[in-house]
Amino acid sequence: MNILCDVDGCICQYDFTHLLAQRFGVAIPNEQIYTHDLVEALGITNSESNSIFDEAVHEHPYFIYGAQATLGRLKQAGHVVWIWTGRLKYMTIQGLEAWLDRYEVPYNYAVLDGNERKYDVHIDDAIPKLMGSSAPIKLLFDQPWNRMCHNVRGALTRVYSWAEIEEIINGQRTLP
Ligand SMILES: [Mg+2]
Repeated sequence: MNILCDVDGCICQYDFTHLLAQRFGVAIPNEQIYTHDLVEALGITNSESNSIFDEAVHEHPYFIYGAQATLGRLKQAGHVVWIWTGRLKYMTIQGLEAWLDRYEVPYNYAVLDGNERKYDVHIDDAIPKLMGSSAPIKLLFDQPWNRMCHNVRGALTRVYSWAEIEEIINGQRTLP
């Protein structure tokens, strides 16, 4: 299968609490960031939001348990892993590839635009990216900023771990 995968919020996690404490002197846990849009979640400007993400993508990443190992097994089993990330707003594609290699994230290709070809599975924590995707299996990685979604079309499958993602891709779990 062709698997399109986001980075932040799926493979690794921003430490917003630390960044916001440093920048604004406030104590806001990740759990209280209720939307993916920091302008809305925090009442800050677009340029402040950009600057936070710019800083966040260059900080030491916190990997989500099982991400690298699962991607490695999927790749080994013959699946093709395509990386599509908003990090490209803050780093070049070569910079992203170097970053993925440095942190031993298994993948096949990094793409500038995940809408340019067809994928079988799309893993992301951003609802707009998933809903714009043609992938029939849309796995929404559970994060505080996507929990408000009512999923009225039933298009999204919420996943909480890489173990679940692996089960779904391996067909060990049938989707509704
Ligand atoms: Mg993300």
